[in-house]
Amino acid sequence: MQDTIHDGTMISDADAWRSRDLAVLWHPCTQMREHPHTLPLLPVARGEGPWLIDHDGRRYLDAIASWWTNLFGHAEPRIAAAIARQAVTLEHVLLAGCSHAPAVELAERLLAIAPRQPGRPPLAKVFYADNGSAGVEVALKMAFHWFRNRGDNARTRFIALENGYHGETLGALAVGDIPLYRRVYAPLLAEALFAPSPDAYLCQPGQSPAQRAQQAADGLRALLERHAGEVCALILEPRVQCAGGMRMYDPVYLRLARELCDQYGVFLIADEIASGFGRTGTLFACEQAGIQPDLLCLSKGLTGGALPLAAVLATQSIYDGFLDDSRERAFLHSHSYTGNPLACAAALASLGIFDSDDVLARNARTSQAMAALARPLAAHRHVADVRQAGMIVAFELTPGGRRDATFDPSLRVGLRAYRGALERGVLLRPLGDVLYWMPPYCIDDEALDLLARVTAEVIEEATACA
Ligand SMILES: *Cc1c(COP(=O)(O)O)cnc(C)c1O
Repeated sequence: MQDTIHDGTMISDADAWRSRDLAVLWHPCTQMREHPHTLPLLPVARGEGPWLIDHDGRRYLDAIASWWTNLFGHAEPRIAAAIARQAVTLEHVLLAGCSHAPAVELAERLLAIAPRQPGRPPLAKVFYADNGSAGVEVALKMAFHWFRNRGDNARTRFIALENGYHGETLGALAVGDIPLYRRVYAPLLAEALFAPSPDAYLCQPGQSPAQRAQQAADGLRALLERHAGEVCALILEPRVQCAGGMRMYDPVYLRLARELCDQYGVFLIADEIASGFGRTGTLFACEQAGIQPDLLCLSKGLTGGALPLAAVLATQSIYDGFLDDSRERAFLHSHSYTGNPLACAAALASLGIFDSDDVLARNARTSQAMAALARPLAAHRHVADVRQAGMIVAFELTPGGRRDATFDPSLRVGLRAYRGALERGVLLRPLGDVLYWMPPYCIDDEALDLLARVTAEVIEEATACA
């Protein structure tokens, strides 16, 4: 629809929303000065499957699943219906001292599907939070507090991986290693210890990803040897360091890290906030190494992408460490919306879709199609690496495809690709100069073809400046 403003120029509905938005909103993860000229703003009126539709009726393929949250498409009718039913039954009640069916049923379901490792007692208890960062805070505080409750006051530190990401709150940021998000807040952050990343992109010539994983595990062992008595937990993103540029690593690292955590008596926190719920091919990425963490953080895809919710799964032994006559030994952490019934109902509906639609089998076929479409792009002269883990494919752009170089940041290669893709009806949101596909699972062949064609075009266009 077009409206005429008084001087006779036409202004579209989408443009009208853009100006209303920029008059009042401060957007996340954005240099607001870049709106609207450097960075176009996409005003979304509605969503349908993998598509976002703007106020002028233009369609955009959501190739990044709305920051990795969306599993089965936008406005998924079964999830929407579950939320609507729950909204007229019980929209919210505090979870301290109260209970409700969606929270209980979801906890039962999550514990039943959580990763298992033979010989280990299973994950046994679920603590809810309302976003991923809050879930990470919960896991960190639990690990620390468990040792305190045992009278071990020396364990005040965490080990995290280089290039890892765990969220934006101060505790989560402290165990993150992405300078762009972290550097300015460094004076506020607890000091974590960083172990080398097993990232396969960092392989030396002739080194295999498994050898790289072994080398990184040796670094972790050295750190543990020096600091074991001060450390409560190792936190990592299993299989893929997503915000760190979709960097992937050999699952053998997880097995080695699990063994080292056991050997040195520190907890293993698996942050599957992005990798969980089928994203890397298995329901949880930990399964690819056959390991089970002591604490498992889930969010993003937990509700199929419909509502914010996080769950932290803990072992019985961690839970038991808080049982005491003293209230101070209890885990007094809470959020007003802990275990919100609407969000739990959405999560239950989403897990129901995994059962009814045989999602993992369909994803296995879709990821093969993605691999076939991605392969030719590896030949481009500025593509250094094409990598895949299940429903994630990433393209690393560097000058001349060299692994030891990066584009001058002022060229804004990633931003050029973003704009070029948006003009062609695809929402790609590169991480620096890493382009990636992380589509809703319902994406079909036609949309995949569009995605591959547009990606090839924007790689050519965005790197032409170099
Ligand atoms: C996104 C993300 C988080 C943070 O979740 P939010 O809901 O954005 O706070 C934590 N860990 C990982 C691995 C993530 O990808």
